[in-house]
Amino acid sequence: MKTIIEPFKIKSVEPIRFTTPAEREAILRRAWYNPFLIRGDDVLIDLLTDSGTSAMSARQWAGVMDGDESYAGSRSFFRFERVIKNLTGFRHVIPTHQGRAAEKILFSVVGRPGKHIPNNTHFDTTRANVEFAGAEAHDFPTEEGKQPALIADFKGNMDLVALERFIKEQGRDAIPLCMLTVTNNSGGGQPVSMENIRRTSQMLRKHGIALFLDACRFAENAFFIKKREKGYARKSVREIAQEMFSYADGCTMSAKKDALVNMGGFLALNDNTLAEKARNILIVTEGFPTYGGLAGRDLEAIAQGLEEILDEHYLTYRIRSVEYLGEKLVERGIPIVQPPGGHAVYLDAKRFVPHIAPEQYPGQAIVAELYRKGGIRSVEIGSVMFGKTDPKTGKLISPPMELVRLAIPRRVYTQSHIDYVIEVAQEVYKDRKRMKGMRIVEEPPVLRHFTAKFRPLS
Ligand SMILES: *Cc1c(COP(=O)(O)O)cnc(C)c1O
Repeated sequence: MKTIIEPFKIKSVEPIRFTTPAEREAILRRAWYNPFLIRGDDVLIDLLTDSGTSAMSARQWAGVMDGDESYAGSRSFFRFERVIKNLTGFRHVIPTHQGRAAEKILFSVVGRPGKHIPNNTHFDTTRANVEFAGAEAHDFPTEEGKQPALIADFKGNMDLVALERFIKEQGRDAIPLCMLTVTNNSGGGQPVSMENIRRTSQMLRKHGIALFLDACRFAENAFFIKKREKGYARKSVREIAQEMFSYADGCTMSAKKDALVNMGGFLALNDNTLAEKARNILIVTEGFPTYGGLAGRDLEAIAQGLEEILDEHYLTYRIRSVEYLGEKLVERGIPIVQPPGGHAVYLDAKRFVPHIAPEQYPGQAIVAELYRKGGIRSVEIGSVMFGKTDPKTGKLISPPMELVRLAIPRRVYTQSHIDYVIEVAQEVYKDRKRMKGMRIVEEPPVLRHFTAKFRPLS
């Protein structure tokens, strides 16, 4: 087989800025060792997130120019709506300025104290919006999904036994809907199988509970199904995606992921009453239903992006380039979550720096070191992001995994950029025994990873 190449050529370029080790040391200190507080211009290779960082195509940019900015009844909205209805089959399409706005609206309608939302694994903003509405968020990943070194095809799956037990305990009236995140972002970017989606849906229907997909990376998930699940090899990714949505009653989506744009999202659903309530909130908080939180040009670019994302040459390149990074790290002995996910490679900080306890934020220490050594920006997904303080003992309750995510922006970096990342990661790994943990100096009450301040332990 020949090398899998980027299925595009480059028409417009953006320079990246090189810094010296001394500059980076000062930048780190000024940013309180929090990657969210580092300026973009001070980063050489930015793997903080794949969200809103995609390169748009010439056709998307043409769509930006062509966008209809009518306040009501914009042509661009009708294209946006048509593309999403064709893909998802859902009756109502509600544009929002990003994924979390769709979540905010959905959980404002269905969430309140006493309500519970299950999910394979909540993404941070999803959990925050469930909790902000006064409801409780519960994660049901499978046992497989909790073992970072284990290689399996669908580690993003929902644990159906645990879910059904939970439904019986709480009663269906306490569970307005169940979410399924595809791919499972916080669980390592791992896909969910069609069988798991179908069985989750069947079980929920039996109990009269709606299923919503958190569909941010539906195309990457569909491609994994095509490659790994029996019976799907000859189906098109579009058909697979359509089947995935057919088992759900609605979805929330951040267009900043698999719609290949820099801003946008939507809520789509079948239930008329729920849609009406959602639109009423939309008008107050986002905008009129035919633009929501977006400009006509954004709607146009999203519609175009949702067509391009299903190109199988693109998906082959996309999934392979993430796998390539994972493969090379493993060859160098660097512990990662196996197998690599769709949009990111996750370093396993517990095995990377076993001498740093969860209370000393091992992932955060690696994040700082990747920046210090190579100007690479990554993010901790572990005790900083998901840790809670036990109200009785004041001690940290840490999540099962301590990870560092290297998220790959879509269509942005070439193979030599990735080779550089591999070299820097290897250097960090070589020096790992000398690394020290971190302590939090200051933190906000919610989503602390965005603004918390750290200092290295001496
Ligand atoms: C990014 C993301 C969201 C939130 O979307 P935003 O556009 O960042 O608000 C929700 N769920 C998952 C799985 C995501 O990856």
